[in-house]
Amino acid sequence: TATSSFEMIQRERKVSANNYDPSSVVITRGKGIYMWDVEGKKYYDFVGGFATLNQGHCHPKIIKAMTDQLNKLHHTSRAIFHDSLYELNEFLTEQFEYEKVLNMNTGVEGGESSIKIARKWGYRVKKIKHNQAEVVFAHGNFWGRTIAAISASTDPTSWNEFGPFVPGYQIVPYDDLEQLEKALKNPNVCAFMVEPLQGEAGAVVPTLGYLKGVRELCTKYNVLWIDDEIQAGLGRTGKMLAVDYENVKPDLLILGKALSGGVYPVSVVLGNSEVMDVLTPGTHGSTYGGNPLACKVALASLDVIISEGLVENAFKMGEIFRSELTARLDENKLVQVRRRGLLNAIVLNTNGVSNYVYKLNNELKTNGLISKSIGSNALRFSPPLIITEEQLREGIDIIVNTINDF
Ligand code: PLP
Repeated sequence: TATSSFEMIQRERKVSANNYDPSSVVITRGKGIYMWDVEGKKYYDFVGGFATLNQGHCHPKIIKAMTDQLNKLHHTSRAIFHDSLYELNEFLTEQFEYEKVLNMNTGVEGGESSIKIARKWGYRVKKIKHNQAEVVFAHGNFWGRTIAAISASTDPTSWNEFGPFVPGYQIVPYDDLEQLEKALKNPNVCAFMVEPLQGEAGAVVPTLGYLKGVRELCTKYNVLWIDDEIQAGLGRTGKMLAVDYENVKPDLLILGKALSGGVYPVSVVLGNSEVMDVLTPGTHGSTYGGNPLACKVALASLDVIISEGLVENAFKMGEIFRSELTARLDENKLVQVRRRGLLNAIVLNTNGVSNYVYKLNNELKTNGLISKSIGSNALRFSPPLIITEEQLREGIDIIVNTINDF
């Protein structure tokens, strides 16, 4: 057994694919908004598992739901029924006001499943000619790493040398209704898949009215609107769904990440029967999707979000976070705060220093706060939504002091 974080990192690197470049900290324990490394140092977790740990680390209700179910029944396959799936899907359909749920595991599977549903709907209902269906995506999108997902990506690091790619995709600029309308006029378009605010792109928030416009255009041109709320949904932005900011309803809604509080991979696609019923036995599936553990963990995770008022808390804490950073960060260092609720990014003036945010991120870690650098000039903060005002203010002190002194 390795005895130091240094040794663990060396040993992990030697035998692991090199597809991540983690901060050099080795975490061994998490509770609430905190994590501890193997040397015993405590950190504020302001990454929150990439907006997955909305309910915090090791929430007792979710852990209990998981362990209770684990001791009872953990897997059956969908060859037979089990006694938890109806419960989760009834809850989801009532909560989000859709008629049907498709149960998957990871976010990218939710995205890919939505595209399959939309294509089939395009052929069956919209009467698009066989194999001619097109799906429109927005520039800067991120929805995962499979071939279907990177075929939609506009970031060369994601797609370079992984071709050939999935055909029938089109890209339009994000937050641009005029260009979207041009694309949707093509009668072969079956769907527009978009994030209500772009998470991985660095909390890029569209102009108010964009989502309403998307709804109107998709209705006008008989195109399904697929709303990817895998990162933005479930309270993260200070509303249960990010589309609630404009009171609009997508045709397909994808949820993941915080749907399980980071305890277990759970994702779902929600939609009405008219669309969802294009799936028939044998046309789609997943060995793990909708298994008993996933169902009980998701039910508990949703219960925590609702019963502990995490949506409202995210809204309130987000306001404090933004106003404090805007007021206290050096004017010549802060360029912009991008945010909704507790999905935040700050753009900084690098003053030509190379690897500025990478180094800054390391300095934050040294000072006890874990954040994530984006590109060359931004930092992302998405702490658990259970954060108290006192904890948030302590985190803000670390961020402000570190950046202003850097
Ligand atoms: N969609 C969005 C908006 C995401 O932010 C992500 C992950 O960051 C995904 C999809 C992919 O989810 P997963 O990594 O669980 O496949």
